[in-house]
Amino acid sequence: MKFAQVIVDISVEELDKTFQYIIPSGLEDVITVGSRVTIPFGRTTRTGYVVGIGDEPEIEFDRLKELVGIAEKSLSVDSKFIKLAYWMKNKYGSTMNQALKTVLPVKKSIQRTVKKTVHLLISKKEAISIYEEFMSKHQIARARVMAVLIDEPELDSAVLLDKSKTTMATVKSLSEMGILDIYETEIFRNRLKTDNDFRNVKALNKEQQEVADAIITEWDCGNNTPCLIRGITGSGKTEVYMELIDHVTNMGKEAIVLIPEIALTYQTVMRFYNRFGEKISIIHSRLSDGERFDRFELARQGKIKIMIGPRTALFTPFSNLGLIIIDEEHENAYKSDITPKYHAREVAVELASLNDAKVVLGSATPSIESYYNATNGIYNLYRLTRRAGSGTLPKISVVDLRDELKQGNRSVFSNRLFELMEDRLQKKEQIMLFLNRRGYQGFINCRDCGKVVECPHCAVSLTQHNNNKLMCHYCGYETVNISKCPSCGSPHVGAFKAGTQKIEEAVKKSFPDARVLRMDMDTTKGKDGHGQILKQFMDGEADILIGTQMIVKGHDFPNVTLVGILLADTSLHTSDFTAAENTFQLLVQASGRAGRGEIPGEVVIQTYDPEHYAIEYAANNDYDSFYEEEIGFRELMNYPPVTGMMSATIASTIEERAVEVSEYIKNKTQIFNTVVIGPANASIYKMKDVFYRKIYYKNTNNKDLAKIREMIFADMEANSDIYKGCQIQFDLR
Ligand code: ADP
Ligand code: ZN
Ligand code: ZN
Repeated sequence: MKFAQVIVDISVEELDKTFQYIIPSGLEDVITVGSRVTIPFGRTTRTGYVVGIGDEPEIEFDRLKELVGIAEKSLSVDSKFIKLAYWMKNKYGSTMNQALKTVLPVKKSIQRTVKKTVHLLISKKEAISIYEEFMSKHQIARARVMAVLIDEPELDSAVLLDKSKTTMATVKSLSEMGILDIYETEIFRNRLKTDNDFRNVKALNKEQQEVADAIITEWDCGNNTPCLIRGITGSGKTEVYMELIDHVTNMGKEAIVLIPEIALTYQTVMRFYNRFGEKISIIHSRLSDGERFDRFELARQGKIKIMIGPRTALFTPFSNLGLIIIDEEHENAYKSDITPKYHAREVAVELASLNDAKVVLGSATPSIESYYNATNGIYNLYRLTRRAGSGTLPKISVVDLRDELKQGNRSVFSNRLFELMEDRLQKKEQIMLFLNRRGYQGFINCRDCGKVVECPHCAVSLTQHNNNKLMCHYCGYETVNISKCPSCGSPHVGAFKAGTQKIEEAVKKSFPDARVLRMDMDTTKGKDGHGQILKQFMDGEADILIGTQMIVKGHDFPNVTLVGILLADTSLHTSDFTAAENTFQLLVQASGRAGRGEIPGEVVIQTYDPEHYAIEYAANNDYDSFYEEEIGFRELMNYPPVTGMMSATIASTIEERAVEVSEYIKNKTQIFNTVVIGPANASIYKMKDVFYRKIYYKNTNNKDLAKIREMIFADMEANSDIYKGCQIQFDLR
């Protein structure tokens, strides 16, 4: 006999309230998770969704009722999402509830006030003179509003009132004077009016057309294999996506476009609006739950056909989904960092198969995993090899920082970069300086020979800890810190310390007349601080933009003719097997920022490790060779995608507990044909007074990894006292 868990009301608050029913014999094979069923409920019957099926009654058998039957045969949108949640639960090892909460929109009745945005209609220069005028007339409140808007010409009205300590009446008076505009926060829709090339469609070039045609042809033949478009930066992937979206909407179906939040800039979004207008909606993390829910409702009602957003846009309740596009598919932001720790790419493929939809991935630097899939026939591969608009690929040179040191140059700029910067400043062209902050965790290298200290077992960098030890975050290997290079004996060994602020100081010292903008976590805290800085740079208000990863994405700056990558090595030595992959991607993407306009661009990559394959191949823009070398490394060391890998994180506020339980789990899980590594301290061992330990499992078969996870879950239920005070999370790579 089988029993179904049924939820009656699909709203996030009610998800915990499931009711168990007996599945009538005869329906046992028909009813699955996601089925919409009719159930006796009090004195009436209602419909609900099956979210789980089991063999055991949870209450006394006599009190259980039989469900009536299946309410509808065809799968509703909600049924599909419940099925998807079930798949996520099994794949990523969460509870059904956590999975349901991830895929189902929040249905709270939130008191919604209409949000308003204020933006300045006049130039900064005019604004300053008006500000001075108000000051001289002692209209202090108005002057304060102007002062705020001079810094931030576009601002949420509540924030503006807060900052200028004034009332809406004052702001309205300025609006009547034509100084500013107040509009409801559908920012993009309103801006549309000011754009005159509405619905302009670029004719695809030959290469773009061939790719679009080929994908449409296979699709029309009913081939739903996911496609990967590998296209160099600027090759016009977005135009191809739009062609495909056009195709799917013409068939009366809907499309989801995933774009990493950081690349979801005004410029990008405008391109979609210009082509598809009101069919589009956008979600991003700054929306309230209510606003997000509204947009999802528009989709459910069929009022919009295309949803653009970060990974959560996947859960848009379209009833007729035909296409999912994932731009910059290699981005780490597509992986969720809360349980269930899903990857948007994997979920997209599953969601597409539930909907008979197509998945199209795109990147200049595909993830090793996707490219591996493409070479194994799991994805179909397409290429774009030429820049589409104006612009050619930049000339890239690699500077060996060891040589600079030998020549006595201790500044952050190599001689070559310095000269080129002088040249560009003089020509009034723009410069981007990129400081790679990823993996800024204290790897040790030799400034003379470039040698980095690595774990002898895992081929990842060791990181320095306060106790003056070097540690591996996979296997826990430990050794004392070195004072001399193990390779050349040089005493110039140590960890790196340099931030964007330091770079800014250095630039100002060397180029006192240059106008500099800095973009990092500190300067982008405010709402849309990130967009503001990019816009200022776009408008030519600065000569040099200094930044971290953030500046690499999304924007086309036609006047940038020089990109300096100050220290390529930092991301190369994160204690993670994807270090080389991440570095290669960052370098190619950063290089892609140069020479987008008429004037050819140049890129200078500074490094202590010019022979490293990630740097060498990035400098040659040679993805194929990089892939060959990298997949070789993964094969040799048994890392994904060649092998499945799962981590278990054991967290506790009591250090001994974390240690004991991680040892216990390790011993418990030796029984499968799986490689067990660790336990070791996590790369962030202690955070907010919680201690983290990790165990890694490797097995070519992901099902065996899932078995280990299920076994630990079962043991946690049976022997809960052993796990007391500990929380355990799993992550499948
Ligand atoms: P990618 O997403 O591959 O980096 P984009 O789609 O952003 O490339 O295109 C790069 C630039 O080339 C954009 O400015 C775009 O407007 C322009 N572009 C793309 N396709 C064409 C085309 N067929 N004709 C003219 N310009 C194009
Ligand atoms: Zn050395
Ligand atoms: Zn190791």
